[in-house]
Amino acid sequence: MPLQTEKVYALAFGAHPDDVELACGATLLKIIDEGHNVAVCDLTAGEMGTLGTPETRRQEALLAASHMGYTSREMLHLGDSELLYNQENLNEIIRIVRKYRPETVFCNPPDERHPDHMKASRLVYDACFYAGLRKIETALEDEIQLPHRPRHLIYYIQFKQLQPDFIVDVSSTFDRSRSGIEAFGSQFHREENSDQPVTMINRKEFLPGLEARARSFGEQIGAMYGEGFLLSGMLGVDNFSAMFPPRT
Ligand SMILES: [Zn+2]
Repeated sequence: MPLQTEKVYALAFGAHPDDVELACGATLLKIIDEGHNVAVCDLTAGEMGTLGTPETRRQEALLAASHMGYTSREMLHLGDSELLYNQENLNEIIRIVRKYRPETVFCNPPDERHPDHMKASRLVYDACFYAGLRKIETALEDEIQLPHRPRHLIYYIQFKQLQPDFIVDVSSTFDRSRSGIEAFGSQFHREENSDQPVTMINRKEFLPGLEARARSFGEQIGAMYGEGFLLSGMLGVDNFSAMFPPRT
C-alpha cells in the first residue's frame, strides 16, 4: 500500500507549536497568497512549556492552522525538552518529508537560545537529506514510500539576532499573520496583575518587540515589514532579472 501523500510546495517544521507562526508566519501567508500549498509540522506538543496543557496547545495549533490557511498541520510527539537525536526521531521526520514531498522546507535555525530549537534544526536538516536516499527504509508494514529530497532548506530566525542571508517583504501579510500568533492564547496573553507566571513570551513587551524586528528587517529592504532567513546551502540564480528586478 503506498504511503498516503499530500504534496505541498512548502513544509515548515518547528520544535514547538507557535515557533513557525512567530518566526515565519507572514512569509507562509505570502506563499499561500502566491497560490501554493503550505503544511506545518510541530515536532513536539510543547508539553514542557510553563503555560498551557498539551491539549490546549494542540487546540491552539489547529486554530492557528485554520486562521493561516495551511492545508495540513501535523504534531509529532518527539519529546519537548528531550528532543533527542536518534534514529527513531529521524525516521518520524523522514516519513513526514516523504508524505508531503515539499520543494521548500523551513525549520529552526542551527544557532539558538533554546536547545530544542538547535536539535530540531539538526534533525530536520539530516532528515531532509536522508529522505532522498532510496535505501533508507522507514515504511510501516505493507507500505510503499518513495524517496524525496526537498530542493531548498531554509532556516527562519527566532530569539538570537542572526544576520539573515535574505529578507522577505511581508508588508502585505504581516498584520494578518498576527491571527496565527494570537491563536496561541495560552502563551502570549497575560492579564494585568494576573497570578500567572511571567514567561519570556507572555510579557507585554514581547509582541511589540517582534513587530520592531519585522520593521527593522523591512527597513533594510525598503519595505514596511520583513522576515529574515538563512540559507542552508548556496542559492543558485536562474532568472537573473526576476531575482534582481529593475525599479518599477
Ligand atoms: Zn520553540
